[in-house]
Amino acid sequence: MHELSITQNLVAIVEGHAQGQRVKRVTLEIGKLSGVMAEAIRFCFEACAENTLLAGAQLEILEPEGEVTCRRCGLEFTVQQLYEVCDCGSASLAIRSGDQLNIKEMELS
Ligand SMILES: [Zn+2]
Repeated sequence: MHELSITQNLVAIVEGHAQGQRVKRVTLEIGKLSGVMAEAIRFCFEACAENTLLAGAQLEILEPEGEVTCRRCGLEFTVQQLYEVCDCGSASLAIRSGDQLNIKEMELS
């Protein structure tokens, strides 16, 4: 499962930043165009956090919507998912934001 390895990576990165302190809360930013399912990350998180500095940490996930520009007509609009089509009929959209997967914040205890 794709999201399982992503979650394991995120936990490892946060642990690296925590420098031995326990992590109380982690906020992730998972853009709606990232192709990563936030629900799946949430589902994996508790198991991945077990026996790490993140055990019992609260997980918050922000899901910013996608911002795209149509390559044909130049229209800028927001989308909830990949593969949307512009009003002009073009499916060639340049992503400006919304495909990010970031650790936005972490709170140590
Ligand atoms: Zn267009």
